[in-house]
Amino acid sequence: MLDVRIDLHTHSSVSDGTDDPAALVRAAADAGLDVVALTDHDTTAGWRAAAEALPPGLTLVPGAELSCESVDDEGRRVSVHLLAYLFDPTAPELVAEQERLRIERRGRLRAIAVRMAEDGLPVDPDDLLAGLPTDTAAGRPHLARALVRAGLVHSVQEAFDRYLATGREYYMAKADTPVEAAIDLITAAGGATVLAHPFAGTRGPTITEETVAALAGRGLSGLEVDHPDHDPAARARLAGLADELNLVHTGSSDYHGANKSATPGQETTDPAQFTALVERASANAGGTGPATRPVGGAWGAWEEAGTGS
Ligand code: AMP
Ligand code: FE
Ligand code: FE
Ligand code: ZN
Repeated sequence: MLDVRIDLHTHSSVSDGTDDPAALVRAAADAGLDVVALTDHDTTAGWRAAAEALPPGLTLVPGAELSCESVDDEGRRVSVHLLAYLFDPTAPELVAEQERLRIERRGRLRAIAVRMAEDGLPVDPDDLLAGLPTDTAAGRPHLARALVRAGLVHSVQEAFDRYLATGREYYMAKADTPVEAAIDLITAAGGATVLAHPFAGTRGPTITEETVAALAGRGLSGLEVDHPDHDPAARARLAGLADELNLVHTGSSDYHGANKSATPGQETTDPAQFTALVERASANAGGTGPATRPVGGAWGAWEEAGTGS
């Protein structure tokens, strides 16, 4: 297949994107994509709506981006994002961990907002949380948008740069999943795992090459090589590391709607690499498959279980 355009990392309004899942798949089709993965933070709540709205010709890869942590050489906590694809979203241990993370996210976002309000900044913690359904993964971008609406800053990016980014005054960490445990959960649920933007240094300390090698030995499937936050040097190091460790290379936009400047398909994944990723998921029994219209087959199993929404 020539010219197949594949973007394996996007966010809808079910986490910190601004397009609802139906609008997101339409935006993907409008951008000329053939395959799009929906990878909301710590939730699969958008899968059904995205699948139901799939335009003809677009394939949906159901996924999520799991909030994880590791430690670097100096013993510092490192935030690690793990993309997970094609897993069974009803796997009980995974469901429990995602629920824990969503509760953790709400508590942490409220704590940040309370500290800001105490310092006289224009944010109402109750209003902020009331606007976020409980199956939504509450994140700093939601607070950043509230600060834009209140006129304190001009953009979500300015809110991060001045207040919310790692190391800024109102940054607070949360209790994420150890990345090894997250890989085990997804492998047991029949999915494949890819480290998201592993060397995006502007977000804080990044994962070490030694840890990446250890994760490869634990069942990690791939590395996100092409990402808007990777400079050419980071891409070259990651491509080399992926080859050395026999991992799949992906490229993706990390589209967040109006919350970030990336557009769907801004970075793409080579079709042969996508095929390899699907094969790695298939090697782990019990997952789901990509969805095309009409939605059916193995894809329907989790929907029938009534927990796909
Ligand atoms: P949270 O999940 O609440 O920790 O927020 C993380 C999300 O905020 C990421 O997925 C990005 O969407 C966004 N983000 C993180 N760091 C930055 C940054 N320095 N500038 C802009 N957006 C960021
Ligand atoms: Fe995000
Ligand atoms: Fe991420
Ligand atoms: Zn992301």
